Amino acid sequence: MALISKRVIVTGGAGFLGSHLCERLLRDGCDVLCVDNYFTGRKDNIASMIGDSRFEAMRHDITFPLYVEVDEIYNLACPASPIHYQYDPVQTTKTSVIGAINMLGLAKRTGAKILQASTSEVYGDPVVHPQDEDYRGNVNPLGPRACYDEGKRCAETLFFDYRRQHAARIKVARIFNTYGPRMHPNDGRVVSNFIVQALRGEDITLFGDGSQTRAFCYVDDLVDGFVRLMNTADEFTGPLNLGNPHEIAVSELAQHVIRLTGSQSRIVYRELPQDDPRQRCPDISRARKALGWEPRVPLDEGLMRTIAYFDRMLTLSGGRAKSPETAAT
Ligand code: NAD
Ligand code: UDP
Ligand code: UDP
Repeated sequence: MALISKRVIVTGGAGFLGSHLCERLLRDGCDVLCVDNYFTGRKDNIASMIGDSRFEAMRHDITFPLYVEVDEIYNLACPASPIHYQYDPVQTTKTSVIGAINMLGLAKRTGAKILQASTSEVYGDPVVHPQDEDYRGNVNPLGPRACYDEGKRCAETLFFDYRRQHAARIKVARIFNTYGPRMHPNDGRVVSNFIVQALRGEDITLFGDGSQTRAFCYVDDLVDGFVRLMNTADEFTGPLNLGNPHEIAVSELAQHVIRLTGSQSRIVYRELPQDDPRQRCPDISRARKALGWEPRVPLDEGLMRTIAYFDRMLTLSGGRAKSPETAAT
């Protein structure tokens, strides 16, 4: 380990992806500052790191300026599930846009490298399939997902303008659906919803006819991609797709979860939300080439680890009849 540790900020560090990233960075010998306003993040997620002298947690909203000294910034702060980002859409856009400006200002002043957690949502409801980084997307700028999609698109614009105008050392990752332990049990995302419903013996809610597709990446693989991207040369900016190219229909995911949990739950059909993308799958050729990276954890294995996490959470809560949200706090 180096005598002087690298000082790394993870915004959104108490969230699902952020907390795994903080753990990974500590293991790599970094000095980690987790910055989070706990909107969707939880102190439980970072509890195991408190007490490590190289870890520090700061309650802070990135729509306000932040003055610290730092070598690298991973900008993950932003609610990621449709329920959460649509809860206060104006705040979602502010977090993406004003938050990006503040973090880029911080990077500009300190000369730090900065990585943006962008999203496959910049492709909207894609008409090109699978999506590669040159595809410019099909986003409805007026719909309920726009606060997130357009916020993230504007953040990407800011990243590239800070590079052109101020020589900022940027990296942009476009993350596709990622799952694993520490997803919020009530955030409405499909993997956590299906697993919690299956474990509690409740109906599994399939939106639309379930033929829409997604490709699910296990969190450890994604975090490894983040770190590799941050370690690339300054000339390499992305945007870079990070995700698992194994595409399945959402109805198939429900079948996997039912099989792996041995659940008696039945599937019920609900209306497809507005602007729900019909298909999504990353083309990761560029990440394979640039990072020598590709996901390693197969879907069933990742689902088993995630099921074990939620199973423990529900057991600790004192019974499966109890709300999973209560269990999380
Ligand atoms: P999450 O909701 O678990 O984490 C987001 C974190 O950001 C939370 O801890 C939340 O409290 C914090 N936060 C929100 N607004 C903030 C603000 N203004 N100031 C400070 N902290 C704030 O979601 P996640 O799945 O861990 O996603 C992390 C990042 O990755 C997000 O930027 C998201 O857009 C991106 N992403 C995630 C996925 C995925 O599948 N998980 C896919 C695409 C992109
Ligand atoms: N900023 C910050 N921390 C810093 C430097 C800047 O939070 O260490 C914020 C600051 O509030 C500013 C924003 O980042 O509004 C953009 O900074 P920049 O230097 O690009 O612009 P300016 O200060 O000229 O507005
Ligand atoms: N979905 C579903 N049932 C649920 C939650 C989600 O069928 O209980 C569907 C949703 O309509 C979408 C897919 O699963 O087609 C993925 O949804 P999620 O909210 O996880 O992420 P998205 O990729 O849409 O941002």
